[in-house]
Amino acid sequence: MKNPPQPDKTIDIKKEGVFLDQTLRPAKWNDYIGQQDIKNNLFILLKAAEERSQQPEHILFYGPPGLGKTTLAYLISKETNKQIKITSGPAIEKVGDLASILTNLSPGDILFIDEIHRLNKNIEEILYPAMESSSLDIIIGKGPSARTIQLELPPFTLIAATTRMSMLSSPLRSRFSGGTFRLEFYSDEEIAQIIKRSASILEVDVDEETSLEIAKRSRFTPRTANFLLKRCRDLAQVNKNDLDKETVTKTLEMLGIDTLGLSQLDRQILSTIIDKFKGGPVGLGTIAAALSEESSTLEEVNEPYLIQLGLIERTPRGRMATEKAFKHLKVKFEK
Ligand code: ADP
Repeated sequence: MKNPPQPDKTIDIKKEGVFLDQTLRPAKWNDYIGQQDIKNNLFILLKAAEERSQQPEHILFYGPPGLGKTTLAYLISKETNKQIKITSGPAIEKVGDLASILTNLSPGDILFIDEIHRLNKNIEEILYPAMESSSLDIIIGKGPSARTIQLELPPFTLIAATTRMSMLSSPLRSRFSGGTFRLEFYSDEEIAQIIKRSASILEVDVDEETSLEIAKRSRFTPRTANFLLKRCRDLAQVNKNDLDKETVTKTLEMLGIDTLGLSQLDRQILSTIIDKFKGGPVGLGTIAAALSEESSTLEEVNEPYLIQLGLIERTPRGRMATEKAFKHLKVKFEK
């Protein structure tokens, strides 16, 4: 029996038009603030491939959400003038989904797979020959009569992003021959620069001091910065005020974000470790269960920021709250 045609689970951004928060997404390298080392490496990689008239090699970006991994993939597609097709690990449910995506690529395309760590392991395996030799091994039939046929794929570049590097199998990791790049958190000054650029696109006036104030509460993360800027703009607009420091303070109070940029969930994590487990060590799964949250959310979204701020430490026996965390929650620190 012939398999029914598989739906193409990618998005062609040219056809789909505006996608997510694309208005604020940098469309030029100059607007992509920070991550200079990664940019320098990418320039060389892309230029060298262009000079050899070759397809750029496969690239992996990793780091917490909202740091600019997807944006880099878009910029690479612009820089190389190649079409980008976008999909994500969880959207690819069957081997056939990935086979259909790969066979629908045009020569030179960039395939972006977000959250690649959520790709099923048996689906992942068909990526190996695709990445290594641009071929696709398909098994036809079942049992003793099953046979493998090999399809030639057009040359393409896979750009993948993950928030959980440790969940990627080593055969997959090793196939990103162009390089694996870790995105770093941004400095307050870089975030303030991003806020000023976004403010001018949104046509709101924000002075230096105010943008730095928003930056300080933005988890060192551009996506959070843009989110906070938009919420501050809303309050200023509704109250017919300027977007000044006072508006920022009020907006963040309403959103439950404190002076360190901690959300309510961040604070609950700290107070669970401190109050229920005497400051730790305690396993992440136990903290997640106590808060009825997914441990993957805590690990991907909250923990990197809490560690970056020096509020918790990861030890072999579990997570521990630091003296700074006790102070922030105004609890007496005891060793
Ligand atoms: P990720 O894929 O890592 O989750 P995105 O690339 O979707 O993050 O970035 C989230 C948003 O943050 C983007 O839409 C963009 O507006 C903004 N952004 C990310 N990185 C930068 C940067 N380096 N400079 C300016 N804006 C950025």
